[in-house]
Amino acid sequence: MKITLIPGDGIGPEITQATKIVLKALNIPLEFEEMPAGESAIKEFGTPIPEKTVESIKKNRIALKGPITTPVGHGFRSVNVHIRKTLNLYACLRPCKSFKGLNLPFPDIDIVVVRENTEDLYAGVEFQKGTSQVKKIIEDFSLNYSPEETGISLKIISEKASHKIIKFAFEYARKNKRKKVTCVHKANIMKFTDGLFLDIFRKESKNYPDIETEDRIVDNLSMQLVKKPEQFDVLVLPNLYGDIISDLCAGLVGGLGLAPGANIGDDIAVFEPTHGSAPKHAGKNRINPLSMILSAKMLLEYIGENKSARKIEDAVQKLILEGKTLTYDLGGSASTTEVGEKIASFIRSS
Ligand code: NAD
Repeated sequence: MKITLIPGDGIGPEITQATKIVLKALNIPLEFEEMPAGESAIKEFGTPIPEKTVESIKKNRIALKGPITTPVGHGFRSVNVHIRKTLNLYACLRPCKSFKGLNLPFPDIDIVVVRENTEDLYAGVEFQKGTSQVKKIIEDFSLNYSPEETGISLKIISEKASHKIIKFAFEYARKNKRKKVTCVHKANIMKFTDGLFLDIFRKESKNYPDIETEDRIVDNLSMQLVKKPEQFDVLVLPNLYGDIISDLCAGLVGGLGLAPGANIGDDIAVFEPTHGSAPKHAGKNRINPLSMILSAKMLLEYIGENKSARKIEDAVQKLILEGKTLTYDLGGSASTTEVGEKIASFIRSS
């Protein structure tokens, strides 16, 4: 099977290299079509996201992607947002599970964050101060603001996108034998947007009587997550809350170095770490590649290579329990490459 491989920017090429070492050790027929995106692509192609990269993802339907630096002043708000929107990757899936052997405040976390990926405040409908749109909105709503000193963003929540992500969360829960789905919102304040999201959740939940449901206001959820995170199973959230809460959950299980992710549409999926290109660590061969290695594990599950996915998970657990080959963020001094090679050696001897 051919997959599109995008090393990306900053630390991206280093964690991609370590992930390739791991995938090679699995000895499965996986072929990589390496494609440019990000800052390096701007130099060569004049755009951070060349058309041929998007075409490759559309053709192969599966991609493994490193992080991409958000360029400033190149026409794209964010390459990542562009990819998600162009390919309609409406679901962002971020599992946060605590591995044994890490000195974590909560050793038993197993939360999956399901974040809506296409709308909300990230729809990109934003008006700069002083523009005619800002003036009009201020006039239309008789707001007591100066248009010259005020910027405006629109929070857009549609029935269609809400229904898609909520159904995705329930289907994911059912397929993965999860017990509970929690809808996260601020419907008490934003009645017509988050309220709509919550209404759809309540209606859709009737189709899944086998799954327990509840809803939480996002501020209360944040407090509960740092006090008693074990109570949560699958969380489904609009885009902005999902972005923030998934980093919080990553922090609970050991940090961004251990946080994999996937952006999934109806028939295309792009797997990538939760974190960014961490430019200050680039080129030092010291960053933790487990986020990308675990993203590759999610990719393998998605394509039905469950045995190989399990091998990666077991090898990562072994690496952490052994504790000798960990990167700085987990208290060790191993290099990115050494982590990849060690996991590969565990896989070969399994
Ligand atoms: P970042 O996630 O790149 O890094 C923040 C810090 O987290 C790092 O300095 C490092 O201390 C830690 N960290 C991140 N990844 C780690 C890893 N694998 N192992 C150990 N520690 C790790 O956030 P940033 O510095 O705010 O963003 C850098 C760039 O990345 C920005 O241009 C941003 O827009 C972009 N970004 C891209 C994506 C993506 O491609 N999906 C996601 C988030 C941010």
